[in-house]
Amino acid sequence: MTSLDTRPAQRIVVKVGTSVLTGGTPRLSRQRMLDVVAQAARQHAAGHEIILVSSGAVAAGRERLNFPHFGRSVPAKQMLAAVGQSRLMQVYGDLFDIFGITVAQVLLTRDDLNNRTRFLNARDTLLTLLDHHIIPIINENDTTATHEIRVGDNDNLSALVATLIEADLLVLLTDQPGLFTADPRQDKDAQLIPRVARIDETMWALAGDSVSGLGTGGMVTKIQAAQFASRGGVPTIIASGKEPDTLDRLVRGDGIGTRFDPANPTLENKKRWLLLEKPHGAVKVDAGAARMLLSGGASLLPVGITTIEREFERGAAISVLNSDGKEIAHGLPAMTATPYSS
Ligand code: GLU
Repeated sequence: MTSLDTRPAQRIVVKVGTSVLTGGTPRLSRQRMLDVVAQAARQHAAGHEIILVSSGAVAAGRERLNFPHFGRSVPAKQMLAAVGQSRLMQVYGDLFDIFGITVAQVLLTRDDLNNRTRFLNARDTLLTLLDHHIIPIINENDTTATHEIRVGDNDNLSALVATLIEADLLVLLTDQPGLFTADPRQDKDAQLIPRVARIDETMWALAGDSVSGLGTGGMVTKIQAAQFASRGGVPTIIASGKEPDTLDRLVRGDGIGTRFDPANPTLENKKRWLLLEKPHGAVKVDAGAARMLLSGGASLLPVGITTIEREFERGAAISVLNSDGKEIAHGLPAMTATPYSS
């Protein structure tokens, strides 16, 4: 940080998608990766804590094996990730070396965050790395993640990580400058949306089912991620990974990209974990109970429950749904229950 710079240090989770790392080609682009690494290195040197969540393992594996055709086979994709992940890290390691920065590979699955002991462990490891000025580079553990324990895409994984370590900001770098009022590739009148105070139905409609290039995510997973991070108290910015100074500009406070405001600016640790845990059971509540939960977060009493949608055990996280079936909260039940409808 320069002596004139009085901005407080920030903890920033930066998610880099495959489309950014490949520049839209089938191969990892060292040039693009260097742009990302150089930005991260500048912010690191300025005293900010940077955590990268990087895709690209499957693309790197595919490139190494000369673009085999495996169709949609899951083990084949896991094999590609196993081949590619080490190559991806090798490139990152070499590029960060230029700036004298040490990196660490952290591979996670949803299971690592569902269990409270593992949650605390993952958190401690990441915070210890940051304390030692090491940049963690996180990816999903694709080789062991089965359908049940997968997060599935790195947009959502980065939101889980940002919530886990109480980041100040989540940046989703992608091949678009942000979220638009229409698909900018098809509609020349499409306008960039600079700020989203609340994610509502119109947001989901705007995201459509866009999917970018080789990666898993599109705008839908980015909005899911922004919504999750927002609930966890972390603002999210979707911005262009094509420019070499996006991160510098965001940290400087330039209003680029699309910014999603956090819904809960402060959330205690236990509640963050509750948010991260994948709920098993589910209850539907009446309008009064829904209002009460959304306004202040008091405890839910059995009288407010209209239906037990999925049974649950005492102490295992549940999903609380409003009368339309939309999830409005997570909770830890004080009792065990079997399906019931009032
Ligand atoms: N974990 C996958 C990879 O490294 C990417 C998942 C995603 O694109 O969101 O290739």
